[in-house]
Amino acid sequence: MNKDAKLPETEEGTILFNVDPIIVKHHYEIDYLHSYAQDSPFFAGLAKGKLLGSRCTACGYTYATPRGHCMECGETTEWVELPREGWVHTYTTCHFGGEAFLKETPFTLILVEFDGFDTLFLSRLVGVQAEEVTVGMPVRAKFLRNAKFKPTDVYFVPVARQL
Ligand SMILES: [Zn+2]
Repeated sequence: MNKDAKLPETEEGTILFNVDPIIVKHHYEIDYLHSYAQDSPFFAGLAKGKLLGSRCTACGYTYATPRGHCMECGETTEWVELPREGWVHTYTTCHFGGEAFLKETPFTLILVEFDGFDTLFLSRLVGVQAEEVTVGMPVRAKFLRNAKFKPTDVYFVPVARQL
């Protein structure tokens, strides 16, 4: 037995943001295993350079996004490949963003409209100055060569207008 035993002390302190009640800062980090479940084919498609949407097996409503069931009638959907090209339905310029995108501001987000699809697809538009973006501008999907299996694996660039 050692009645003089004691835990080692460190010289680290704690950042105190408030005293009553006490508010302190703790670093927090975690690895999170996340399942894409039924949306997995969409992300696998991005890695293969394909955009996959969904079509209702009952009413035929088409979604430019992964969707397991139809929001119109509730039936299951099937995967369907979207065209590589669409056009800008609407857009916005982001001067702020999440931590991952902050260093890329300002950037342009667009909702892409595709021939034969009833809903839109949200993505980035690159290669165009914010003031050059117009509604109806033709755009083409491009894919990261090294897929990250994230929605940002796809982005859009302008298509040169044919005169
Ligand atoms: Zn339906």
